[in-house]
Amino acid sequence: MAYAPYAVMLIAGFISLWLNRLQPFLVLLSVFMVNVIFSFFAPSEQVSIAQSVLFTLLSFLLPLNLLLWSVLSEKGIQNTAFNNFVLAVFVAQGVLIYWVMRELNLQWIETIALPIFPGLDFYHLSFASTLGFLLAGFILSLKLNGQKQLRVFSHAGVFVLLLMAFALNQYLQVGVLAWVSSMVGLIVILSLVLDAHHIAYMDELTGIKGRRALNEFFMGLGKRYAIAMVDIDHFKNFNDTHGHDMGDQVLKMVALILDTVVGGKAYRYGGEEFTLVFPGKSAEQVTQELERLREEVANHVIYLNEAEVGSNKAKKASSKVVSITISLGVAEPDAQHTTPEQVMKFADEGLYKAKRLGRNKLVRSMGKSAKAAPKTRAKKSA
Ligand code: GH3
Ligand code: MG
Ligand code: MG
Repeated sequence: MAYAPYAVMLIAGFISLWLNRLQPFLVLLSVFMVNVIFSFFAPSEQVSIAQSVLFTLLSFLLPLNLLLWSVLSEKGIQNTAFNNFVLAVFVAQGVLIYWVMRELNLQWIETIALPIFPGLDFYHLSFASTLGFLLAGFILSLKLNGQKQLRVFSHAGVFVLLLMAFALNQYLQVGVLAWVSSMVGLIVILSLVLDAHHIAYMDELTGIKGRRALNEFFMGLGKRYAIAMVDIDHFKNFNDTHGHDMGDQVLKMVALILDTVVGGKAYRYGGEEFTLVFPGKSAEQVTQELERLREEVANHVIYLNEAEVGSNKAKKASSKVVSITISLGVAEPDAQHTTPEQVMKFADEGLYKAKRLGRNKLVRSMGKSAKAAPKTRAKKSA
């Protein structure tokens, strides 16, 4: 039972490494080391000065470690240079602790190692430790504010800081530290799972949902819906003329516009193709919205940015303003197309027709039964 918290931390650490995430692993390792050191030098009733100093050092270094490992960008577990840096940081801290313990100076111990508020019986952290936690919390929050892509783990860092501040505040009870540390392990696991889910379902380039999310959405779709397939016109040409990076920018721009769709959801199907799904709507009902999206893309002005000037292909067109168009096909379920996959293929036929008709168009795929008079609709066609 006493080892359960360590087991949780170990499992969390293993999952981090498995997912090639070094940051969470180092956060866990820092917490784990504090646990190990404290259980070796567990303070008894009488806390010696040495123990008090060791405790102060660790509770000062821990928030700084948590900050460092949460703030540095993720390098994965196989970056030798970074791994050496990590090793150096841990060794340096070991040396620092050793040196301080040897050169104990009572004068500055009184300033930094004693509780900051000796009178308060619910707050035991020293000046140094309080400073460390405040500094780490402040910088981490700032970093979160400026974060572009969501990483749940970065948010977890703030919780870990709070939990550890709470645990260290109760340092006389090593058991509390161990159990709170296992909470840290669980939080790290949870954040890694959420991050992995995000990575699996979101398209990295455009930031909208990807193919996997689309397939999952299909599973819960009712009987009535409309699906539109969207394809950027002459995109290969665009890439060849303005460069692949500029092409990526355009993909993002198109995705952002499609994501404003009202009454439906936008997905990147793959490459330069997107899928729009409208639950509970007929193809007819979404035509206006699809035309709006088509026009919005066509009217969007693309400035060829400075960064592209350097590439040979973009040089000629560097000062130009260009635009791009999309073609769309839309369909709804009918007698021949009953599953979302079939309806999607059907919408694709409309899309190809739109291409043949000259692009920058929306074509609705109509089944035989839909085109025929309503009377014949009831007839079951093979
Ligand atoms: P059409 O109007 O008939 O659709 O012509 P197209 O050139 O758009 O069609 P084609 O299928 O021949 O080419 C699609 C191009 O899309 C080829 C590829 O270079 C580009 N593409 C696909 N995915 C990406 C991507 O992620 N980034 C960039 N920059 N280009 C992409
Ligand atoms: Mg295509
Ligand atoms: Mg295309």
